[in-house]
Amino acid sequence: MPSYTPPLRDMQFVLHEVLNVVDELKMLPPYADIDADTINAVLEEGGKFCAEVIAPINLSGDKEGCQLDKTTHEVTTPKGFKEAYQTYIDGGWAALACDPAYGGQGLPLLVNQCFYEMLNSANQAWTMYPGLSHGAYECLHAHGTDEQKKLYLPKLTNGQWTGTMCLTEPHCGTDLGMLRTKAEPQADGTYKITGQKIFISAGEHQLAENIVHLVLARLPDAPAGSKGISLFIVPKFNVNADGSLGERNGIFCSGLEHKMGIHANSTCQMTLDGAIGTMVGQPNKGLAAMFVMMNTARLGVGNQSLGLTEVAYQNAVAYAKDRLQMRSLSGPKAPDKPADPIIVHPDVRKMLLTARAYAEGARALQAYTVLQADKSISSDDEDERKEAEAELALLTPIIKAFITDNGWIATSHCMQVYGGHGFIHEWGMEQFVRDARINMIYEGTNTIQSLDLLGRKVLGNNGATLKKFGKKIAAFIEEEGTNEAMQEFINPLADLGDKVNKLTQELGMKAFGNPDEVGAAAVDYLRVVGHMTFAYFFARMAKVALEKEGSGDPFYRAKLATARFYFAKLLPETASLIRTARAGLKPLMEMDEALF
Ligand SMILES: Cc1cc2nc3c(=O)[nH]c(=O)nc-3n(C[C@H](O)[C@H](O)[C@H](O)COP(=O)(O)OP(=O)(O)OC[C@H]3O[C@@H](n4cnc5c(N)ncnc54)[C@H](O)[C@@H]3O)c2cc1C
Repeated sequence: MPSYTPPLRDMQFVLHEVLNVVDELKMLPPYADIDADTINAVLEEGGKFCAEVIAPINLSGDKEGCQLDKTTHEVTTPKGFKEAYQTYIDGGWAALACDPAYGGQGLPLLVNQCFYEMLNSANQAWTMYPGLSHGAYECLHAHGTDEQKKLYLPKLTNGQWTGTMCLTEPHCGTDLGMLRTKAEPQADGTYKITGQKIFISAGEHQLAENIVHLVLARLPDAPAGSKGISLFIVPKFNVNADGSLGERNGIFCSGLEHKMGIHANSTCQMTLDGAIGTMVGQPNKGLAAMFVMMNTARLGVGNQSLGLTEVAYQNAVAYAKDRLQMRSLSGPKAPDKPADPIIVHPDVRKMLLTARAYAEGARALQAYTVLQADKSISSDDEDERKEAEAELALLTPIIKAFITDNGWIATSHCMQVYGGHGFIHEWGMEQFVRDARINMIYEGTNTIQSLDLLGRKVLGNNGATLKKFGKKIAAFIEEEGTNEAMQEFINPLADLGDKVNKLTQELGMKAFGNPDEVGAAAVDYLRVVGHMTFAYFFARMAKVALEKEGSGDPFYRAKLATARFYFAKLLPETASLIRTARAGLKPLMEMDEALF
């Protein structure tokens, strides 16, 4: 069975030594009293919970999966899941970053983010049950009426109830404008909702007292397309005015999907048969309200892959130090043993370092981005809020797609390190690969993320937000311009920054001629920009490591070695990506559809 050690030192490095988050958080009124000790203590306790309670039920949960009783429509989760959820509630973990007005502990989102990285390493499938509640909480916090907030937020905050997002239908996933679920207004101000949803994560389970489904549906007179979608709260059990549970509502699980990974999370077909719902926000503006939940979930999905990358790496390293096969090409390294440990072989190291670098880069990018989320909500300066919001919007598709693509590569490499044993269930590595694969698909496929980045977030505002982020990178390059030791990091970063500018302009011009050019280049473009963000954070991490290398702490030597590996072996991928992005539309469209 795989093991897991919470990477607390790595988190502290990013939070306190690279990003100095305490100084930034203290500027936000709700966090004026925050300090590093509090953050570290919470993460240390959280790490124990993840390693001791949640990780041990990962492999068994994958093997057992979920069971649906078709007569009662109840879903049973694997052994130990319910008890672990109770421990999670009892520990107050659900409330960590929620508003004290609803019983939350009022810590920054950033702390919750780090806690969730560890939960995801421990058990992605289990983590999705409480994980979706955070998006539902934020959506209702932003768009719910006072009455809805009073009824739902305290129970989502303490974890007594969980949340879901019900968007997808059999004929529409990416194109939600086609959805058909109907909402008929009732005389009492509620709506009767009828339709079929599929692929609903954590749609039914026995972990919580109630499930708060956020459902997209259409009013009878709604305009066609995405402009005619409204959002509704549809609880599993209706909620009385005093907050107590009422009758079972007409929303139930009619089937469980049999899937490649995350077996222990119930992926449900949900039938709505005249279910009672209340509207969230304005009629026909449901998609905009739902985007609050979707954006939270997109950051959460990136965090899922960060968690899997970290845990796969930890186990692959332990295996590579232990497994003896062949001698090093340059002569025995463990002459007292029958063969050398495989960690002496350069390509095994390349696989391990790739996973390590993808975890470290992702952790820095995630922390920086979620800090922007905290600023966008909690700053008392409107300009700062707006700037943080714009940067968050820019970086969200990069987190979702770049980190999950990397997570797939990393977990696959780590499985490869195990040789044939990686393919065998008991070792746990093939589960990480299977679990990582869905992260590239749900919450808007990675292709859709790339269209969002290039089409909307970059070209949509003439590159203004990207330029602003680029200015931060340029300022760092300028600051380090005369620092000899930093040149190996600064020069390639500056070079890539120039190339991204040129590529963006070129693609913008092409898109004027034919908008399909965006679709032809977007996936490569996102990966190039993803690398630019990683290179920036690796350069910042290298700067700290260089300053502290003299302390003799091997931690900093390892940071530098990882940064050097990243710049030498991973970043150069951008050269071929820029070429393929430039190769444009023609090679993709030249072939007639009939010839496929
Ligand atoms: C395990 C699991 C859990 C899920 N959980 C949830 C959940 O909790 N709630 C929920 O509502 N949904 C959920 N989903 C649904 C998920 O979000 C969708 O599957 C996903 O958004 C893709 O939609 P689709 O499957 O209909 O694919 P389609 O939309 O049919 O897309 C098929 C392919 O076409 C590509 N494509 C589509 N349009 C374009 C375009 N314009 N340009 C380029 N390429 C395009 C896509 O990228 C994809 O590769 C889940 C799915 C799974 C498998």
